[in-house]
Amino acid sequence: MIVFDLHCKDGHRFEGWFGSARDFASQKKRGLLSCPTCGDTGIEKGLSAPRLNMGAQEPKKPPQPAPAQKTPDMEGKDPFAVAQMLYSRMLDEILTKSEDVGKKFPDEARKIFYQESPGRAIRGQATQEEHDSLVDEGIPVARFPVPPADRLN
Ligand SMILES: [Zn+2]
Repeated sequence: MIVFDLHCKDGHRFEGWFGSARDFASQKKRGLLSCPTCGDTGIEKGLSAPRLNMGAQEPKKPPQPAPAQKTPDMEGKDPFAVAQMLYSRMLDEILTKSEDVGKKFPDEARKIFYQESPGRAIRGQATQEEHDSLVDEGIPVARFPVPPADRLN
């Protein structure tokens, strides 16, 4: 099949499908072609090159899947590795944005809570009892698994 860009004398443009260029000429000669808009039979081929339609012989391209919004370094990693990495990043975030007060953590957390020290993010160590007593006092603290030694500086 060949598709021609056709137009009538009034300039209405439309497409016509033909078995061949000769088919177009034949239909035009017999007055079978008419403008779908105004019915004019003075149909001419447009200047644009005819497009070939190869029908079923044309391999259909599979629809391209939309590129997934992934961070490149997560590509191809298993969910556990990704979770591990996210946790590690979160840890980095906490470690860079908080002040290390070491073993003074319980005292410092308490001071911040009672506004005796400037409010800020701190990190440090606390024993189980120290942690529990902070929680008992209603002081918001969070525990994290001990980071790898190289993160402790
Ligand atoms: Zn027309």
